[in-house]
Amino acid sequence: MAVTDETLTDLALSRSSLDRVALERRRPEIIAELLDDPSTRVAEIRGDRMRVAAAGGAGVGDTAGDALGLVLRAPEPADRARLGLHLGRDGDGTAYVGVVSTDVGSEPEAAGSGHESDAWLTLRQAGEALAPRDAGVFTTALALANWHSTHRFCPRCGAPTEPNQAGWVRRCQREGSEHYPRTDPAVIMSVVDPDDRLLLGRGAHWPEGRFSVLAGFVEPGESFESAVAREVAEEVGVKVDAVRYLGNQPWPFPSSVMVGFEATTRETQLTIDPVEMAEARWVSREEYRDLLRGGSIRTPSGISIAKRIIEHWLGHTVEDVVGPGTVAGT
Ligand SMILES: [Zn+2]
Repeated sequence: MAVTDETLTDLALSRSSLDRVALERRRPEIIAELLDDPSTRVAEIRGDRMRVAAAGGAGVGDTAGDALGLVLRAPEPADRARLGLHLGRDGDGTAYVGVVSTDVGSEPEAAGSGHESDAWLTLRQAGEALAPRDAGVFTTALALANWHSTHRFCPRCGAPTEPNQAGWVRRCQREGSEHYPRTDPAVIMSVVDPDDRLLLGRGAHWPEGRFSVLAGFVEPGESFESAVAREVAEEVGVKVDAVRYLGNQPWPFPSSVMVGFEATTRETQLTIDPVEMAEARWVSREEYRDLLRGGSIRTPSGISIAKRIIEHWLGHTVEDVVGPGTVAGT
């Protein structure tokens, strides 16, 4: 593993293992060359789904850990007409190409009972159970596909843009300006009071019982730490003291990277912003465990850094309290 200051390691969507071989993207024919090579592994994305299979004959809904794999295939002729994304090479030099399928009627059905041996799943559904390489392939391809779908016109002059550099650039067809995939940083943070209680909030449009730590987008001209302080002050009216980095992961829903922190405060009086927040409260560890056991509180989904930040404060996993498979993710 690379040298890191992160406390939260092995986050579900931060496990990409491919070498991105960025210099290869400059070769104009690289996608065509890779699609001519039967050893290339193609990861097809339809809408926001990829085809996933369970290991060892299990159903795709019955799995945990590294028990799911992407169904990768050799290139097929139809791929040449699709948007191609050079995702990188593995340790053996095998290339991985994402293809964005826009065939009429290609939108797959939502996942069925979960007992099929393979299914088209979203990254939210499959991400936690995918092995590291495949979690990285899906995360990167989804982020790129999302960006291409919403950047078809030049922000400088309004003319159409076209994919370039193996899917990592869009180029203006009128004046040639180049536009790069964007990633929007958001901060997400635990806030702890002098009694070591955790601040939990429920967003204005979230269902009853769904609580998480606070989060928000970083604004232009702002450091991550300043964004943490501003978001907490805006949403619950509390001034934070120390802010410490915990870890980060890409979050391609549609185009973010979530940067996690823990903050402390001496202020416990909450003044919520009703536009952003439905409610906010302080919980001790014992109260949080009781709420989980009683089923009156739901944690964020397993692929989220939010769940890991809460567990970092709690000192153990949510599953240690309620058992595996009972965490209602969203
Ligand atoms: Zn232009």
